[in-house]
Amino acid sequence: MTTLDVKDYKLNENSIRYVICHLLKVTNYQHLNLSSICIDDKNNTVKIQLNSLEIEFLNFQRYSLLDLVEKNIVFDFVPSFDSQYYIPVISSGKRKFSDSNESKITIYPDILSLSFFLLSRFEEQVTTERDAYGRYEYKNSLSRRYQLIDIPLVDEYAMLLKTELARFFKEGKFAPEFKIILSQDIDFVFRFSGFVKSIKSLLGEIYLNRSIKGIGLSVKQFIKTINNPLNDPYYMGMLELLALAKRYNSESRLYFMSHYLEGVSSRQKIINDAIKTAIKEQEVKIGLHPDLGTYNHLERYNRECAKFRNFFGVTVTNNRQHFLQFDVRTTFDILESKGVKLDSSLGYAEREGFRCGTSHNFYPYNFKIDDCYSLLEQPLIVMDGTLKGYRKMNSEEARDRMKLLYNRTKRVNGNFVVLWHNDLPSRARVYTNEVLFAFFESIGSN
Ligand SMILES: [Zn+2]
Repeated sequence: MTTLDVKDYKLNENSIRYVICHLLKVTNYQHLNLSSICIDDKNNTVKIQLNSLEIEFLNFQRYSLLDLVEKNIVFDFVPSFDSQYYIPVISSGKRKFSDSNESKITIYPDILSLSFFLLSRFEEQVTTERDAYGRYEYKNSLSRRYQLIDIPLVDEYAMLLKTELARFFKEGKFAPEFKIILSQDIDFVFRFSGFVKSIKSLLGEIYLNRSIKGIGLSVKQFIKTINNPLNDPYYMGMLELLALAKRYNSESRLYFMSHYLEGVSSRQKIINDAIKTAIKEQEVKIGLHPDLGTYNHLERYNRECAKFRNFFGVTVTNNRQHFLQFDVRTTFDILESKGVKLDSSLGYAEREGFRCGTSHNFYPYNFKIDDCYSLLEQPLIVMDGTLKGYRKMNSEEARDRMKLLYNRTKRVNGNFVVLWHNDLPSRARVYTNEVLFAFFESIGSN
């Protein structure tokens, strides 16, 4: 696929409507009728009509989308809707967010361009630098340059707009509800699948981890699985995390790597059947966790879908890429062509936070048709491997980061999507206790 010619892209009626629709969804005003959009390029303004109300957006596209990638941008700070902290806006020279009178709202900073930039992942569309796994890196992002990553900026703009809209309209009936979603990427369903593999796994541990205590624990776990494969630590880890989510009224999602779903030995079959029963009984949403190299390769992705369908008897509707390997220029097309309805891969592996500027599900933008895709993206906010591996945070730092992002997500009624791998409860017991379990304990029943 060739690199899209989106460098010169200017927001038009389609993309403005797209942003407004997302802002209205977050604010719970999506029932309002957006009847007209008038762009005045000369005066850098956009006027829209919402029912009988006019909203005027000033300072529109004084910076082009490409300017946001390439130039130095001046930001101002305005108080958030609840005055909890100050949030950045592209400078309008006015140091305030909005004004209103009885028939009109005026928005000073250019929230349309920056929101579109973040949601459409424009910077990922127009740059080619990637890491060894083909991933766009946080260090190259606008969010890193201006320290936006810890702020659900699009949601914050929506909430400021909501304060104004509340003067004119009643909210809709279906307010977005804050949710914690504890997702698990099941890279390994079980640790001890057969005698030879189990011995290899133990020898591997002796080589990597010379702690006698750790190895002793693994040997104990292995012995327990000899008579009953359901004592497998990774399988039990999955159940433990499911139970944790349930205890705190949170949603669970399981993303399965497909190569563990075929070639079933008698031991595997016992675990696989138990997994199917647990999913059914607990009504857990499941999805595919396709392997490396599927993010830009339809045939490979197809093969993984087929394995998933064979095993679970349903087509793939949910997806998260292994290693969060993703390219916004190709992966959405592949997912959409297979009928996937929701993806949850868009978080940076190396940095927790709000990569897309929102904690709400949103429709990714397809520049090829200048309109949105029909699948939803559910942004990933925090992953175990980010805190422990990439960021090397101790338990206290990691827990504090989770709490900060949780609080910011909760204020804007978004989805706090956490990824914790099912092998961590056994492989990193203390970290899992001190970070994940302690986090849930500290927030209570949400
Ligand atoms: Zn994975």
